[in-house]
Amino acid sequence: MPTNVLMSKSDIELLERVQDFVKWVPRQLLLDMDADKVRYPKTFIKEAGKRNLLGLRFDKKYGGSEMPWTSEMVALEEVGVLGTSLGCLYSLFSIVGEAIHVFGTDEQKERFLKPMLKGEIGVAEGLTEPRGGSDFFAATTKAKRVGDTFYLNGQKRFVVGAEGADLILVYAIVEGIENPKNAMTAFLVERGPGVIVEHVYGLMGTKGGGTGRLVFKDAAVPLKNVLGGEAGIGKGTSVFHQMMVPERLTSAGGAVGMARGALEVAAKYADKRKAFGQKIRAFEAVSAKVSDSLTLLDASRAINYMAGKMADSGASSGQIRRLVSEAKKFSTESAWKVVNHAMQMMGGIGYTNIYPVEKMLRDVRLITIWTGTNEIMDLVIQHEFYKEFLTKKQNGRDTERDAEGADLPDEKIYND
Ligand SMILES: Cc1cc2nc3c(=O)[nH]c(=O)nc-3n(C[C@H](O)[C@H](O)[C@H](O)COP(=O)(O)OP(=O)(O)OC[C@H]3O[C@@H](n4cnc5c(N)ncnc54)[C@H](O)[C@@H]3O)c2cc1C
Repeated sequence: MPTNVLMSKSDIELLERVQDFVKWVPRQLLLDMDADKVRYPKTFIKEAGKRNLLGLRFDKKYGGSEMPWTSEMVALEEVGVLGTSLGCLYSLFSIVGEAIHVFGTDEQKERFLKPMLKGEIGVAEGLTEPRGGSDFFAATTKAKRVGDTFYLNGQKRFVVGAEGADLILVYAIVEGIENPKNAMTAFLVERGPGVIVEHVYGLMGTKGGGTGRLVFKDAAVPLKNVLGGEAGIGKGTSVFHQMMVPERLTSAGGAVGMARGALEVAAKYADKRKAFGQKIRAFEAVSAKVSDSLTLLDASRAINYMAGKMADSGASSGQIRRLVSEAKKFSTESAWKVVNHAMQMMGGIGYTNIYPVEKMLRDVRLITIWTGTNEIMDLVIQHEFYKEFLTKKQNGRDTERDAEGADLPDEKIYND
C-alpha cells in the first residue's frame, strides 16, 4: 500500500483514478509485450490520454492538470506496478512533455503537447548513441542548416518507441558552432523520410516498447521543429538539464511501484506456503525480508517525495539535481533489492513464469542502468554537494573542533 501520510486529499483522488486505469490494462497486453508480440501498445497511451492521466504537471490549456511533482510521484508508483515498459511509455509524456512545456513555442505546444496529452501522439527521446550514453555531450549526431531546414545525420541507440512513436525528441550538434555545449540543439523529429529504424533490440526485460536504434540519413527537420524555434538553436544543454528532472524522477517513482508489486506477490505466498509444519513467514529469515522490503519502499517514497518537493520549490538547479539523483539512485537500488527478496522468499517457483516475479526481476535490472546510470548519479550527487558545501557558510556547529587535539595545527597536515 502506498503511504497515505504523504498524500493530500487530491492525491488520494488521483491515486484512485490511476488505480482504475492500471486495473483496466489487459493482462494479455502485458503477456504479449513480454513475448515481443506487441512492440508498441498505442491502446495503452490512448487510454491514459482519454483518462486525462498524461502530463499531469502541465498547463490545463494544453491538457495537463497543473499538479505538483509530489502528486505525479503517486501516479508513477501506481503505473510502476505494470513493469518498466509501460511505466516508461507513460513517463515519456512527462519527460518529452517537460521539454516542450518549458522550452517550446506556443505553436509547438499546440501542435505537439496538446495531442500528446490526449494520447493521440506517441513520443520518444533520442539521447544515447552507439558511442555511449553517459558522456552525453560527446554526441556526434549532426544537424546541417540549409535555409530554414536542418538535415540530421547520425544514430541514436536504445530509443524506447524507435518503433511506434510518432514524435522523437532528438539531440544533435548544429554544424558551424564550435563549442559542442553551445551547438547542442533539441529537435522535434516527426517520423518521415531519412528516419530509419535500423535495429529493434532483443531485451532481457522491459519488452514491448519498440526499443531500437534509429538512424538519421539526411532527415529533413524544419526550423519550426527546433525546440523553441530560432531561439532554441544551441539551447540543447539547458533542455537536457531540465529534462533530466523528469527523466530521473519518473524512474524513481516507477521503481517503487514495481518493487511493491513483487513484494505483494511474495508476501501473499509466504502467508500461504508452509514448510516444517508452519507458514514460511513465521521464519525470521523470511519475515526479515518483508520488513527490509517495506522499509526500503517507505524510505524510497520519502526521498522521492522530498525530491518532488524540491523540484516543485524552484530551488537552485544544483540542489534539485542532487536530490533528484539521490532519489533515482536510492529508489532503483532499493527496488532491485526488494524484487530479489521477493524471488528468494518464493523459492524455486518464483523463478518460473507461474508468478510474475521473474518478469519483474528481468524488468527491474534495467533501472539502475537507464536514465543515467547510478554511477553517473554518484558523480552528480557528490559534485552538487561539494559545489554548495565548499562555497556556502555553514551555520551549524563546527564538529571538527569537538576533538581533544583539535587545536594542534602541526598535526593537521594536508600536503598543500
Ligand atoms: C532498454 C533500454 C531502454 C533505454 N531507453 C532509452 C531511450 O528511450 N532514450 C535514450 O536516449 N536512451 C535510452 N537508453 C539508454 C540508457 O540511458 C543508457 O544505456 C545509459 O545511459 C548508459 O549508457 P551506455 O549504455 O552507453 O553505457 P556507457 O555510457 O558506455 O557506460 C558503461 C559503463 O561505464 C560507466 N561509466 C561511464 N562513464 C562513467 C563515469 N564518468 N564514472 C563512472 N562510471 C562511468 C557506466 O556507469 C556504465 O557502468 C535505454 C537503455 C536501455 C538498455
